[in-house]
Amino acid sequence: MDHFLYRDGQLFAEDVPVSEIAAAVGTPFYVYSTATLTRHFKLFDDALDGLDHLVCFAMKSLSNQAILKVLANAGAGMDVVSGGEYARAKAAGVPGEKIVFSGVGKTVDEMRMALEGGIRQFNVESEPEMIVLDQVAQSLGVVAPITVRVNPDVDAKTHAKIATGKSENKFGIPISRAREVYAMAAKMPGLKVIGIDVHIGSQLTDLAPFEAAYLKVAELTKQLRADGHEITRLDLGGGLGIPYARSNEAPPLPSDYGALIKKCVGDLGVEVEIEPGRLISGNAGLMVSKVIYVKEGEDRKFLIIDGAMNDLIRPAMYEAYHDIVPVVEPAPATEPATYDIVGPVCESGDTFAKSRAMAPVHADDLIAFRSAGAYGAVMASEYNSRPLIPEVLVDKDQFAVIRPRPTYEEMIARDTLPPWL
Ligand SMILES: *Cc1c(COP(=O)(O)O)cnc(C)c1O
Repeated sequence: MDHFLYRDGQLFAEDVPVSEIAAAVGTPFYVYSTATLTRHFKLFDDALDGLDHLVCFAMKSLSNQAILKVLANAGAGMDVVSGGEYARAKAAGVPGEKIVFSGVGKTVDEMRMALEGGIRQFNVESEPEMIVLDQVAQSLGVVAPITVRVNPDVDAKTHAKIATGKSENKFGIPISRAREVYAMAAKMPGLKVIGIDVHIGSQLTDLAPFEAAYLKVAELTKQLRADGHEITRLDLGGGLGIPYARSNEAPPLPSDYGALIKKCVGDLGVEVEIEPGRLISGNAGLMVSKVIYVKEGEDRKFLIIDGAMNDLIRPAMYEAYHDIVPVVEPAPATEPATYDIVGPVCESGDTFAKSRAMAPVHADDLIAFRSAGAYGAVMASEYNSRPLIPEVLVDKDQFAVIRPRPTYEEMIARDTLPPWL
């Protein structure tokens, strides 16, 4: 459920007409709903009610400072995967004890930054990383709390680019070697083993792979405890999918996911952490764009819009589907037209949808890409020297620009010339 609904023939973001935002900031732009963000966070928080738990927002899905503040105010911790994300979380007022550091290639500088600024735990992904973290912690005279990310060799049955839990993926340590690696960690004075971490992929639309992974983690918890390790926290990752097409069968609900977690690990007496990204931010955002031209091709109509692959790369990168709707609500019995919806970038990959049936639109009409809150703005670039598009946050009847569109001058001023030019 989200808060982008038609009202009086117009698409609204909460209580603000999308067309009003477009008039104020120009197109294309991203707009996010505070109510949807907090609602989705609360669904997870409530789903784990009764367990000692923390929901850490995977901020790689959407990392604007205003968004982080909204979620931090609601009680969220943060899952970060870089020094930049750590700095953003801290700048948004998230205390170190609510920040989890994930990622397969943490650098010495990133480790030092987090150890000095405070960290809930590092999710360690390899033995070389473990050795370096031990050294960095010792050099600072502190002890780094860690989990080891195990790779359970479970098929998440999702797009290959976002599956992370099979043995061929680069993530984590094979679960079969976990006991050996935990034994190694226990001997390192700069580390304190506190738990186990697992994350098998993104956009999962079925609970079965989660169940397979969590049961393996529960089994491992018992083995590691028998080996003498204190396992007090399980980080069960993120990855719950969202419906991108409204007609599609709905993915599992956070409440069912929570019930599954309780079933798999509820009797272990551990604190549970989860790291959802997309399910919190995905349907909390739209990308709004304007039709520049309707071009008649030989055998098809092209809708050429002012948004492009540099603004929203998911269709080009993952063959992702986004619902695309006109901002003016079509009359009930409107015959759909069929379009290839493309951006102006000089690549054939700059295609958002092929043969898409939608209500007919014309030059200068506004259209909205649904489910664009996650992995949208954060993956944007200035390819073709198209300035990063603005981000807007709505809260009831108010809206504010939370990242302005740079001018051409600002974009150019970021480059510096060497002295000899
Ligand atoms: C990407 C990622 C997440 C979030 O995935 P979603 O599909 O957005 O929920 C959580 N944890 C880790 C380690 C990740 O890499």
